[in-house]
Amino acid sequence: MRYVSTRGQVPAVSAAEAIRQGIAADGGLYTPEQIPRLTEAELGAMVNLSYQELASKILGLYLTDYPADDLRRMIGAAYAFPEKFGSPEVTPVTVIGDRQYLLELYHGPTCAFKDVALQLLPHLLTKASQLTGDIREIVILVATSGDTGKAALEGFKDVPGTRIIVFFPEEGVSRIQRLQMITQEGQNTAVIAVEGNFDDAQNAVKQIFTDPDILEKMERHGLTFSSANSINWGRLVPQIVYYFYGYMALCREHRLKMGDPLNVVVPTGNFGNILAAYFAKKMGLPLGKLICASNSNNVLTDFIKTGHYDRKRDFHLTISPSMDILISSNLERLLFYLAGQDAGQVRDWMSQLKSQGEYRIGDDDLAKLHEDFYGGFATEGETMDAIRAVYRSAGKVIDTHTAVGQSVYQRYLRETDDRTPMLLASTASPFKFNASVVRAIAGEEGVAGKDEFELLRLLERISGEAIPEALEGLERKAVRHQTLCKPERLGELVQELLKIKE
Ligand SMILES: *Cc1c(COP(=O)(O)O)cnc(C)c1O
Repeated sequence: MRYVSTRGQVPAVSAAEAIRQGIAADGGLYTPEQIPRLTEAELGAMVNLSYQELASKILGLYLTDYPADDLRRMIGAAYAFPEKFGSPEVTPVTVIGDRQYLLELYHGPTCAFKDVALQLLPHLLTKASQLTGDIREIVILVATSGDTGKAALEGFKDVPGTRIIVFFPEEGVSRIQRLQMITQEGQNTAVIAVEGNFDDAQNAVKQIFTDPDILEKMERHGLTFSSANSINWGRLVPQIVYYFYGYMALCREHRLKMGDPLNVVVPTGNFGNILAAYFAKKMGLPLGKLICASNSNNVLTDFIKTGHYDRKRDFHLTISPSMDILISSNLERLLFYLAGQDAGQVRDWMSQLKSQGEYRIGDDDLAKLHEDFYGGFATEGETMDAIRAVYRSAGKVIDTHTAVGQSVYQRYLRETDDRTPMLLASTASPFKFNASVVRAIAGEEGVAGKDEFELLRLLERISGEAIPEALEGLERKAVRHQTLCKPERLGELVQELLKIKE
């Protein structure tokens, strides 16, 4: 399988090369030249596979230059129970209503869905170095809206041949998320708070990646950058697996028959998670509508409705901070397929986005988009209502991001009356966003005067579920990272951290 850049100005590469580079040198994203297609018989043979077996099958279709034995070993290590994931199923499915199911993606070490990819990515990346004969030390730069940073730090800490530097927006991560990051251990980790919002941090990091002066100094010191953001194909491909797993789990429980359609609802920010669902659908998994749920940063809702992407709007800090994004990087991969793999067209759109802050796709492209996608958004109030409603009807506590998905799904039902079974991607543990979740269920008086840790214990009582170990332990951890930086100073700071400044 070869990977091409969505901007078409570099040659096609192997999976190992695509994963090693993270982003293509022309600024595009590497994406498969063809999406592999499964037959009905192949799908039928997947119903009884374990998560790890399923992951080996699916990743094997995409990472064709990785030896199968290596893939199996890496997958075994990444998804080990109970060392890495708190569920032997890795991503278990639970029932929250009539034909409504939750795909629980948050049982990894940092309690967010990003663990599923970021526990595996370090293995994929260090193997990629071997396969491509590249001996340079890998420096991972991550801009995070909260969850990627911590998940990447946990994945890469003390991995030989790698260093990781994480930037999070000073305003706009939850207190638990902040604590998780600033207490990070590991010899090769650095965590920086950036003044500004996520887009500021992400843009600053994108500039460092392509700064010729920094790149030249890196080269001289035997260092090379890579990315753990979902622009890296190695981040995206592991996420395809759990849509298959969710579907197969519903078949095993006789809630679906193989071939029945299943709608998928995904709380969306950078468009990575929902793009993985799109790949699963194009591979032949019988998915129906892919419902793209946004918070008040609803640039994707408007885009899916009208075909007009317009980032020129106010940025909102919300209670679902991991979705506070106005430039959804991974949309570029979808555009590439919508445009019939016309990289010139993608370049046009992306340069309009850069210079004018907007672009518009054609009517045919929009019609194609509507075959697969529905877009909606939830306000802060609607998000809180959804948490309360699911708790009252199903006794299940969902986090603020998942609640955005649930709220948009309710709107979808009202608008379409489409009663196809649905799978809601539950992207974080409610304990991670405990203040908002407790406020939704117990009201303002429930949270008043309580610190993070009292709220964890209160939520434990409300939900009847145990506080995840990783979060409970935070109370005893020392703060190890306290640097605060302006976006325009990040390049300098990275050079200081890497000791490549002369
Ligand atoms: C990252 C994240 C999202 C958004 O996922 P994308 O792949 O960026 O669309 C949603 N919810 C949570 C909890 C996240 O951490």
